[in-house]
Amino acid sequence: MKWSWKVGRIAGIEVFVHATFLILLGWVALSHYLQRRSWEDALGGLGFILALFGIVVLHELGHALTARRFGIRTRDITLLPIGGVARLERMPEKPAQELLVALAGPAVNVVLALILLAILIAAGEKVSAADVQVVGGHVVATLMWVNVTLAVFNLLPAFPMDGGRVLRALLAIRMDYVHATEIAARIGQGMAFIFGAIGLFTNPFLVFIALFVWMGAAQEAGMVQMKSVLGNVPVSRVMITDFRALLPGDSLARVVEHILAGSQEDFPVLENGGVVGVLTRTDVLKGLTQSGPQALVGDTMQRTFETASPSEMAEAAFARLQSCPCRVMPVVGNEQLVGMLTVENLGEFMMIQAALKSRQQSQTRHGGDSTTSRSQVEG
Ligand SMILES: [Zn+2]
Repeated sequence: MKWSWKVGRIAGIEVFVHATFLILLGWVALSHYLQRRSWEDALGGLGFILALFGIVVLHELGHALTARRFGIRTRDITLLPIGGVARLERMPEKPAQELLVALAGPAVNVVLALILLAILIAAGEKVSAADVQVVGGHVVATLMWVNVTLAVFNLLPAFPMDGGRVLRALLAIRMDYVHATEIAARIGQGMAFIFGAIGLFTNPFLVFIALFVWMGAAQEAGMVQMKSVLGNVPVSRVMITDFRALLPGDSLARVVEHILAGSQEDFPVLENGGVVGVLTRTDVLKGLTQSGPQALVGDTMQRTFETASPSEMAEAAFARLQSCPCRVMPVVGNEQLVGMLTVENLGEFMMIQAALKSRQQSQTRHGGDSTTSRSQVEG
């Protein structure tokens, strides 16, 4: 995720903090300080946020480690103000598995809340609701309350909350995945709208959450749509086959001519028929600044790059393309360069498929209309 910093590594998974989380830290410290003009309160507030941070990481580890049981790795965990995001390599295929992965996070909070409750009971402490305060409250009681809130909040049936995934998994047991996601996303956006409306009159933080939920729902629906368009389509059907290739001995001046004359911006570099590198527009610009137009492609190109195979599923190939810093992926079959995959190329394919699909839908709709009218006539 952009605007994130790495803070550590747990169970082999890298943990990042998003910049907006720091805004939350600043906001909490400031609001605590302003309450009683005390720096101690501000520090207490920060300590509380760090504890919250730990709880959120444990929640995300719940998801990640459950997914690992189903053979799914987690790329990283990012902490946002409204919670964490564990970026799984892929979603479980079976709805029952997705259900368990989604429930595992809130389950961690339930367990933590029960442990904290046991500590309170063992210590014989009588805690009233008034003790649940971030400033000057009872720490154990407050953290217990935090866990209960996180469990309940995350189970709201709205993407990107876990409850949204639970809802989708439950729906997907009865219907196809795309349809289930559409329904779950629509419910999520409806809830975001309600959050936002309530937030406008009560708590601005709710408006913030509403925005996140709204975007999360849209993103989830888009991702699943991409999956449905690309489902069972091999790379060979999506790849660019009309492109120019370069030689390591070509000069950058020549590459610039190619870029200006055509629409291609990223090039494969061939030597003795095999791909030895890729040269993107960014590499060309960097090479021009550093070494001038006479620099050679072989000295400027990226020598480590990912390739795709023509029979590989396009969805998997594009997922790799989007997660690597490369902009382009040569498609290699039988050690021969047969095509190229780019992010723009994916966008174009999706657009064309969407156009074809909406034409198909309008045709079936017309067909449907005529059957209804016929049955009406019969009736
Ligand atoms: Zn979660």
